[in-house]
Amino acid sequence: MVEAWEEVYSSLHRRFKGDLLRPGDREYESARVIWNGMVARSPGLIARCEDVSDVQNAVRAGSEVGILTAVRCGGHSLAGFSTCEGGLVIDLSRMRQVNCDSGARRAMVAGGCLLGSIDTATQKAGLVFPAGVVSHTGASGLILGGGTGWLTRRFGLSCDNVEGFTLITAEGSVVRANSKDNADLFWALRGGGGNFGVVTEFELKLHPLTSVVLAEGLTREADIRRLLEYWRDFMAEAPFELKWNIDLRLAPHKEKVPMELRGRPVASSSLIWTGDPDAGRSYLERALSMCSPDSASSKVVSFLDLQTMADSDFPHGRRYYTKSGFFNDLENETIDRMIDAVTTIPSSETQIELAYLGGAAGRVPADETAFGDRSAPFILNLLGNWSDPAGDERNISWIRGLFSKLRPAMKPGVYINFMSGDEQDRVPEAYHQRWDRMVAIKSHYDPNNFFRLNQNVAPRKMEASGKLNQGVE
Ligand SMILES: Cc1cc2nc3c(=O)[nH]c(=O)nc-3n(C[C@H](O)[C@H](O)[C@H](O)COP(=O)(O)OP(=O)(O)OC[C@H]3O[C@@H](n4cnc5c(N)ncnc54)[C@H](O)[C@@H]3O)c2cc1C
Repeated sequence: MVEAWEEVYSSLHRRFKGDLLRPGDREYESARVIWNGMVARSPGLIARCEDVSDVQNAVRAGSEVGILTAVRCGGHSLAGFSTCEGGLVIDLSRMRQVNCDSGARRAMVAGGCLLGSIDTATQKAGLVFPAGVVSHTGASGLILGGGTGWLTRRFGLSCDNVEGFTLITAEGSVVRANSKDNADLFWALRGGGGNFGVVTEFELKLHPLTSVVLAEGLTREADIRRLLEYWRDFMAEAPFELKWNIDLRLAPHKEKVPMELRGRPVASSSLIWTGDPDAGRSYLERALSMCSPDSASSKVVSFLDLQTMADSDFPHGRRYYTKSGFFNDLENETIDRMIDAVTTIPSSETQIELAYLGGAAGRVPADETAFGDRSAPFILNLLGNWSDPAGDERNISWIRGLFSKLRPAMKPGVYINFMSGDEQDRVPEAYHQRWDRMVAIKSHYDPNNFFRLNQNVAPRKMEASGKLNQGVE
């Protein structure tokens, strides 16, 4: 019997300009690997596209055969959606062009770009695009899901800073979506993830910025409760130029960490100030007063240094598992549950990540983008991070256990880019009031659910027959 991927290969191989990699080919083994080491799958065919026509041909061939298909930019899907077993991977990693128009403060960015490619190109003109905090993350997956990072409070989510998309639909057509053309699709692509097609180009809005003030410090276990209570009230009044993230974790055994804190439960604060450094000093000093003095520091860093400083904390190939949610308020009971949990954390790299959104992102009306309601400012991400497969059960059950304790205090909703692969039942929750509109747009652009390896919004006929995403183990 001819396998589906062999049919796709036969259909593509004469006209494809990029690489068609099959099991046994020289580069296949490295090309099949994605960032999350928990997700090791062997696609039948990896189509590493050279240009837009390659993407069109791969989508058409895949659609005709009806093969299970994954779309990959940076391969950082926590859920592991950018690979599949036995199917087709449409890989955009050779499409990393960035063209920056400094006068217009715009950049045209190809669908395979990593965040680092965008930062490097835009900083040459002293400009920034607000995106995530690790430079080896793919831009496409991050922007399509929403995109939070250091600049979210100052300039909004990544998706709030997209002016237009070029998309290859399930039938292989090129469609442009912006505020004038295909406005429904433009709405859906800003938060709706990979449901609607393959984005080959983004038109991004840029902002002037070249450096920030970075302040960091650790708070010992006994003082974490006081810190979190202070933080929740302080951030409600803080200027948009300030971002303050807090991670609860075991302090790393690193030189800059005071000896007595190493390996102990701590809250690790990271703050940036994006405005005039003098105007930010009092805010940063007040925040750092909640940290152990011998762990606190503050300095001006270049934007490129800021964007790469966490790169080595999240290396490719480790095992990751995540659960996430929003809180309207950070109640004392929630704080206590988190502090209790840190003492039982099973891996020294696992973190309870807390960020306060609001700011420019919070000002965008709920119905303006598929990302939706931004009124709950506290976002929590439980990020399990370990290396030994023997630790899978212990680490995953720790995340699930803590999540179920915190869940009752959460607001319904979840950021799709912080979801695991076993959470398809939470996708309607992610889009709640926007679900019907999402389904209608999906039904129009992808009626057969060709693009289903994602936080899937099934088109109408499939939703009705209960034929949801069957492709993920
Ligand atoms: C180390 C790390 C740091 C992170 N930091 C942040 C952060 O600071 N802020 C934040 O918001 N998120 C962050 N995330 C989450 C991140 O947004 C998601 O993991 C996102 O999916 C990564 O995008 P990618 O292109 O690398 O993913 P991929 O795995 O390549 O793709 C993920 C999904 O996106 C879709 N997709 C990818 N490319 C395209 C395309 N061109 N067209 C259409 N659909 C496409 C597909 O559905 C695919 O399954 C981080 C993740 C990691 C692993």
